[in-house]
Amino acid sequence: PGEILVIGGGLAGCEAAFQLAERGLKVRLVEMKPGRRTPAQNGDGLAELVCSNSMRGAALGNAVGLLKEEMRRAGSIILRCADLTAVPAGGALAVDRERFSAEVTRAISAHPNITVDHREVTAIPEGRPVILATGPLTADALASDLAAAVGSEHLAYYDAIAPIISADSLDWLKVWKQSRYDKGGPPATAKGSAGDAGGKGDAAGRGDAGSAGDAGGKVDTGDTESAGDADGVDGAGSAGSAGSAGSTGGDDAYVNCPFDEAQYRAFVRALVEAEKVPARDFEEPRYFEGCLPCEVMAERGEMTLAFGPMKPVGLVDPRTGRRPYAVIQLRQEDEAATAYNLVGFQTRMKHGEQLRVFRMIPGLEEAEFMRLGSVHRNTFINAPEQLGPGMELRARPGVFLAGQISGVEGYVESAAGGMLCAILLAQRQRGEALRPPPPTTALGGILTHLARKQPRYQPSNITWAHIPPVEGDKRKLRKRARYDAMAERALRDLDAWLASSP
Ligand code: FAD
Repeated sequence: PGEILVIGGGLAGCEAAFQLAERGLKVRLVEMKPGRRTPAQNGDGLAELVCSNSMRGAALGNAVGLLKEEMRRAGSIILRCADLTAVPAGGALAVDRERFSAEVTRAISAHPNITVDHREVTAIPEGRPVILATGPLTADALASDLAAAVGSEHLAYYDAIAPIISADSLDWLKVWKQSRYDKGGPPATAKGSAGDAGGKGDAAGRGDAGSAGDAGGKVDTGDTESAGDADGVDGAGSAGSAGSAGSTGGDDAYVNCPFDEAQYRAFVRALVEAEKVPARDFEEPRYFEGCLPCEVMAERGEMTLAFGPMKPVGLVDPRTGRRPYAVIQLRQEDEAATAYNLVGFQTRMKHGEQLRVFRMIPGLEEAEFMRLGSVHRNTFINAPEQLGPGMELRARPGVFLAGQISGVEGYVESAAGGMLCAILLAQRQRGEALRPPPPTTALGGILTHLARKQPRYQPSNITWAHIPPVEGDKRKLRKRARYDAMAERALRDLDAWLASSP
């Protein structure tokens, strides 16, 4: 087979190029630096880490720790260079970013099957297999061409993320399951209200973003998985999750947290007063009205949220038989209902402030946060709609997406996406049926998330919610033991998959 084109020499592009090359395929890697940089870049090397130098938690009891171990076992170049350039960082894997980038650049440039070109690609090339791995700040001309290929409503230009909470940390004595009007979910709301109304990334959203990239934002986000633990919150001990097993859709698809008037006013005040992550230079704080940060809505007026995502219409609290003053709805995140996201509560509050303010929500006093909210510049496609098997663009056969632009989130996840895309493409080039990693692995969990349809697709860091729970244990095992069991199963299943030479 001829040469494969990989566009973008970041984390995903370098990993993809390396995996293809290791499988005997010829690769041309095209990176626009040093001629042109994205607004976040400072260096000229490949695989530049633009913000934190941390690849987050190292322990296997942490989903991103498991993902890294799986990548090591699968021969990841990004992990090899990260381990080689690691600096002390407690429970995390952090690297010397200059040495890391230099090591990756050296390994890629020295590979006999890889040629590196330095130029900007302005349109999706045709005529041979292409992996697009141009990242969250994909240069404009190429982003426009991709938008034209998939339809502009399927390409987002920034990302507004709401927190995710573990189901067993909810206070089920205060919250209840019910969809508004007993239908499938909250209705699309007026302009500027609920975060669920409308899609992302249309003309209004283009280029608008606040940043989550500073110290209060994305640094060590993988450790949000343990943020709850650090506060001594262990959901295993809390009230059982009545009916939380496996319900998708139907009239109990949402969990409702009821507010009385005093609670509502205090909550809105806290949102307004909380410390926020400041926007970066290239991220003007203009927002797409369809997914405003909750604090921006709170700043617009005390009742804005009550008429937006917190409106109580169509809901009756079974404990009082009445409609509450206001409500926050949680939407099921995974099939096994182990996690929920806060509908319409994308936010730029600093992480510590999110823990403080969101635990004011009735029923969330002890909440364990599996992911915190953020708003940042991000170019990505609506993966479940647009990506077919093997991460191939449905609209453009022969074009594959990897990394942040494919709808994953984070350094490690982007590199993992590059690895997955390359492995599946290599199988295709060999004329084999696709053999993705088992869904019980963290690598498989990334594919699970990319395929999971959502009302408004949101990229995500890897979390335990992307991997099915270990059968039989349900909620008997304490949370730590559950995660350990999932990690053990994942590595066993991964080794079996690797033994089949994927
Ligand atoms: P990148 O690493 O961005 O690589 C894409 C490459 O493509 C770049 O080198 C770019 O120059 C090149 N390119 C772009 N367009 C073209 C073109 N048209 N032609 C040729 N080359 C092109 N994640 C974390 O885990 N921790 C963090 O602290 C963190 N901070 C972030 C801060 C910011 C400001 C942003 C925007 C994102 C951050 N992320 C962070 C998210 C994400 O993990 C990183 O952006 C990650 O680098 C994505 O990997 P990637 O390979 O998909 O893209």
